[in-house]
Amino acid sequence: MPVKNRFAEMLPEITAWRRDFHEHPELLFDVQRTAGKVAGLLRSFGCDEVVEGIGRTGVVGVIHGKTDTAGRVVGLRADMDALPIHEATGLDYASRTPGKMHACGHDGHTAMLLGAAKYLAETRQFDGKVVLIFQPAEEGGGGGREMVQDGMIDRWNIQEVYGMHNMPGIPVGHFAIRPGALMAAADQFEIVVTGKGGHAAKPHECIDTTVVSAHIIVALQTIASRGVDPLKQIVVSVCTVATDSTAHNVIPQVVRMKGTVRTMDPAVQDYVQRRISEIVTGTATALGGAATVDYQRGYPVTVNAEANTAYAVEVAASVSGHVDADTPPLMGAEDFSFLLNERPGAYIFLGNGDTAMVHHPAYNFDDNAIPFGSSWYAGMAEARMPAA
Ligand SMILES: [Zn+2]
Ligand SMILES: [Zn+2]
Repeated sequence: MPVKNRFAEMLPEITAWRRDFHEHPELLFDVQRTAGKVAGLLRSFGCDEVVEGIGRTGVVGVIHGKTDTAGRVVGLRADMDALPIHEATGLDYASRTPGKMHACGHDGHTAMLLGAAKYLAETRQFDGKVVLIFQPAEEGGGGGREMVQDGMIDRWNIQEVYGMHNMPGIPVGHFAIRPGALMAAADQFEIVVTGKGGHAAKPHECIDTTVVSAHIIVALQTIASRGVDPLKQIVVSVCTVATDSTAHNVIPQVVRMKGTVRTMDPAVQDYVQRRISEIVTGTATALGGAATVDYQRGYPVTVNAEANTAYAVEVAASVSGHVDADTPPLMGAEDFSFLLNERPGAYIFLGNGDTAMVHHPAYNFDDNAIPFGSSWYAGMAEARMPAA
């Protein structure tokens, strides 16, 4: 396949970009160096338009095809941010900033989309426009949401969107995807239990917030085990419990708990939010205390549109011949979901081989995946906007 051969030629150049990003990781919206380099490269490729500062530090590049007879516009997205992890790979191009690391492979995603951009700007064998979306703050900041709220979709009239993530455990060059819900909605909650602190030898004169909290933690487990259809995916985890005393003989006055909720279905998400509130306040009241819940919705479910998933599978099959079109969904979350809530599209996994998992200090993106990923990005544009 010609696309793949071109990317094999470009591999040393794209790899050099990737390793440069890897050496200079930046967090959340503070991706000024990365975004600056992305914008500079896009201009050097001859992109028709390059705009910085979308969604604070996002970059958008536009490439016009040889023709534009039907007003077609396809968006291709990569993420640019790293993680607050201390790198332990020992690589000669390891992070130069202690405590920051490209441990999710966004350096690879950005480099692969830049490779696709260079090829598309050289060849322009499509009828319409490609919008290249480089977003900040995928790791918790909602950079995708910020770019959408900045008006990106309407400003460039984007009609469909495609994104990709590398995945350890899948062979390099193999793809995996599924139609419908691919990744979960991730919400978070904070519970504050108040009672009456006091001497641990006089529990009858106190309202013991530790005991109230223990009952709440156990009761919350019934949401998943008793309240939700066992065939629906759900996680309810209380992850942090903090009393306001560290003594062995004090009944604390206040206990704070934090946790996460993962769901795949909006009806289940609504149900969980309501039940957490009912169980927390009801349990605390029953035991003589009081409690509040602050429930924050995070990234929505990542939903691949049926038709667009089929297009993504077709292109992936032409690139590598190895596509799992029915991969199990993951309970992790992804803020490409904000783009998929605006326009139909698909999100695909690309194998990273037998490496440490993403977010592990020994993880590294495999550069051998680059020709496959760049070919898929470019192939999506060419397939969805065939040359007139
Ligand atoms: Zn990540
Ligand atoms: Zn990631």
